[in-house]
Amino acid sequence: MDTFSSPYPTWVEIDLDAVAQNTRAVHQIAGVPLMAVVKSNAYGFGAPQIARTVLAVGAEALALARFGEARVLREAGITAPILVFGMVTPPEVDEAIAQQVTLTLHSFETAELFAQRAHTVDKPVRVHLKVDTGFGRLGVLPEEVSDLAQACRTMSGITVDGIYSHLAMADETPDHPVTRQQIDRFTHVLDGLQTAGLRPRWAHLGNSAAAFGLPAARFDMVRVGTALLGMKPFYFQPFPAVLKRVISWKAQVASCRLLPGDWGVSYGHEYVTAGPEWIATLPVGYGDGFRRLPGNQVLIEGQRVPVVGRVCNDMCMVRLPHAVPVGSQVVVIGKQGDEEITTDELIDRWHTSQADIVSGINLRVPRVYIPVGNGLDRSENIELT
Ligand SMILES: *Cc1c(COP(=O)(O)O)cnc(C)c1O
Repeated sequence: MDTFSSPYPTWVEIDLDAVAQNTRAVHQIAGVPLMAVVKSNAYGFGAPQIARTVLAVGAEALALARFGEARVLREAGITAPILVFGMVTPPEVDEAIAQQVTLTLHSFETAELFAQRAHTVDKPVRVHLKVDTGFGRLGVLPEEVSDLAQACRTMSGITVDGIYSHLAMADETPDHPVTRQQIDRFTHVLDGLQTAGLRPRWAHLGNSAAAFGLPAARFDMVRVGTALLGMKPFYFQPFPAVLKRVISWKAQVASCRLLPGDWGVSYGHEYVTAGPEWIATLPVGYGDGFRRLPGNQVLIEGQRVPVVGRVCNDMCMVRLPHAVPVGSQVVVIGKQGDEEITTDELIDRWHTSQADIVSGINLRVPRVYIPVGNGLDRSENIELT
């Protein structure tokens, strides 16, 4: 068994070759241009690395939640189109104009702010309009869209390149009536804009789930995050065979001791040894993004072993059938031998989404990148007009 296989006590491995393959698979299935969602540091995978990988295999554009994240990508030399989904402040609008970052215009107030900043810096701001078709987050209501589009045309300084909305139920159940309703509302809005001669170039509604299972929600482009990163796009179907897992979270055994019987383990002594037991301490805690919840398991020597006692900030303990050497490799998420712990499995154990699980892996856990293989044939980038 390999010991001390890494310079780090705990680390995350990110397979960029798998990201490239997933990008091409999703692109092919969706059949429309792809906007890769790399928000919150690409869900913790590293926004610049993921952005470069997906752009090299044909992603059309990138999307992020905050302007600060777009700045990071521009500073990394990434020149692809970027859409910011969320709120921007007045100084950020000025910078977005200078950096050619597209902003979300989600209200009449933002329209006024954008027009005012555009006049001040004497350059137009590029926007995608946001319509709330049933998510209750950002956007104008469907019946307000044509007024907003008209207002943008009247106020100079705003270039409307796109319009979008977001689905609330696409990953929950197939063919949910709410999804149907959101698609219908969005289609109706687009028809209205078309008639008024205000239909923007890019209309987009679908996320990962829609890219896979909802052709009617694809429109001109799909916005895909989790699927590119090898996570399950929906809760109601097994992991798609075309996707490759991207992330592995590993660690190395810090200590392995035979504790006497009736020996309390960790805060609160929630676990007490039944007799003499091999207990290993791992350098993985809730300060790394491991959750302080019951039922955790990890893989050691290709076997599932239970975490015992409360998870601490920086460490946790596992019960082993026998001694293992210090430095033995531990898998928290990923494959070891024939066993695998997937992010799907953790959804139930941690009562949350896969995006939350991986975004929650603290930055103190080093990211190690497995580069894209040489044999990869690169599909061409499509020109964004
Ligand atoms: C996060 C997000 C997405 C991507 O969703 P995935 O399920 O990760 O594909 C798409 N659109 C918007 C508006 C988002 O906030």
